[in-house]
Amino acid sequence: RVVGRLIIHLICFLFISSFSQKYPPVKFLSEKDRKRILITGGAGFVGSHLTDKLMMDGHEVTVVDNFFTGRKRNVEHWIGHENFELINHDVVEPLYIEVDQIYHLASPASPPNYMYNPIKTLKTNTIGTLNMLGLAKRVGARLLLASTSEVYGDPEVHPQNEEYWGHVNPIGPRACYDEGKRVAETMCYAYMKQEGVEVRVARIFNTFGSRMHMNDGRVVSNFILQALQGEPLTVYGSGSQTRAFQYVSDLVNGLVSLMNSNISSPVNLGNPEEHTILQFAELIRSLVGNRSHIQFLPEAQDDPQRRRPDIRKAKMMLGWEPVVPLEEGLNKTIQYFSRELEHQANNQYIPKPKTARQKKGRPRQHN
Ligand code: NAD
Ligand code: UDP
Ligand code: UDP
Repeated sequence: RVVGRLIIHLICFLFISSFSQKYPPVKFLSEKDRKRILITGGAGFVGSHLTDKLMMDGHEVTVVDNFFTGRKRNVEHWIGHENFELINHDVVEPLYIEVDQIYHLASPASPPNYMYNPIKTLKTNTIGTLNMLGLAKRVGARLLLASTSEVYGDPEVHPQNEEYWGHVNPIGPRACYDEGKRVAETMCYAYMKQEGVEVRVARIFNTFGSRMHMNDGRVVSNFILQALQGEPLTVYGSGSQTRAFQYVSDLVNGLVSLMNSNISSPVNLGNPEEHTILQFAELIRSLVGNRSHIQFLPEAQDDPQRRRPDIRKAKMMLGWEPVVPLEEGLNKTIQYFSRELEHQANNQYIPKPKTARQKKGRPRQHN
């Protein structure tokens, strides 16, 4: 009987300790310092990492997402925590909640995803942003818009600084996203000037890391997936076009620092280390360590040819700059993708990379 009791006590102890260890550690913040923070698009790639940081810093976080490209799995480790709430909601519809800060990230970000249903992309970036600014105005919250280097289009100025107005084709395949984000920025400054809403605008350059959607068609996810599966790495055009890639933890630190700064004008957040796409394919192939060959495919329409952020403003005014070296970030991402592939294989699903011009069937999400 004594042994029986001991076993019951042990089971209770294990149950209680597993329960208390269920969540990542969270700092305690006093009522005065704890903020109520809304993250739209918080179940996506960047949003879920931002959720982790703000939760671990001790804030109350509400994630709003319609799960178009995001996944519950990205934030499942917080579900049930007293500081966390997940709302399945489309920002194109009005939202009435009480918050102190809004990180407005809701929008598909990869070219195949935002081109999949351009009307919806436009609605999300225009009506969705209007709603979040209306919410910010009503409750007196500060709003940070996740804008993009795409506002510079196929740039004629290199590297791109915040003064540059951009070179965007308003009727091309990327316009739903580029012009959508440009209007979103315009709306932020209209609400700031006319209604006194506090706004922050982050112009985010190419970012990568764990929780990127495996087959969202972006170059990093495509190349890693292709290399891990021993498939050819698909380079669009000659591969001489350039990008500069930042690791997601650097971006998240930049976003939080910008939100809590007094800079209301746009700020570039990106890593200025620039590579051609061909160099990038070779680097990923060597890091994965297999002999996939490189396959050249036709170039994508209106593809920006040279992109690299000028981050002097962020350095000077936020004291921010990226610290994670490209190879270190890539190795972490490769490990994440390998684990995901194992997980998918156990579930008998073999993901295939998406190509930029693919546009088949009916959109998964309604207008
Ligand atoms: P993502 O696709 O992983 O995340 C976007 C999230 O928004 C998803 O969870 C999606 O379901 C959600 N969403 C989309 N439409 C919505 C709607 N109508 N209502 C509610 N939720 C909606 O993309 P990401 O890379 O995490 O990008 C996040 C933000 O950062 C986007 O605004 C994007 O434009 C911006 N950005 C990202 C990059 C990058 O390289 N990752 C570069 C520049 C800008
Ligand atoms: N809105 C919202 N939540 C709020 C307040 C407003 O979603 O808490 C939406 C509202 O539905 C409106 C938009 O934000 O469509 C802009 O609001 P604003 O008050 O600026 O404009 P108005 O309602 O006067 O048109
Ligand atoms: N790209 C490529 N092969 C791919 C996916 C993308 O060569 O499988 C190229 C694309 O044409 C662009 C660059 O890689 O020049 C970055 O593409 P991505 O879709 O990641 O983001 P973008 O910066 O264009 O928004």
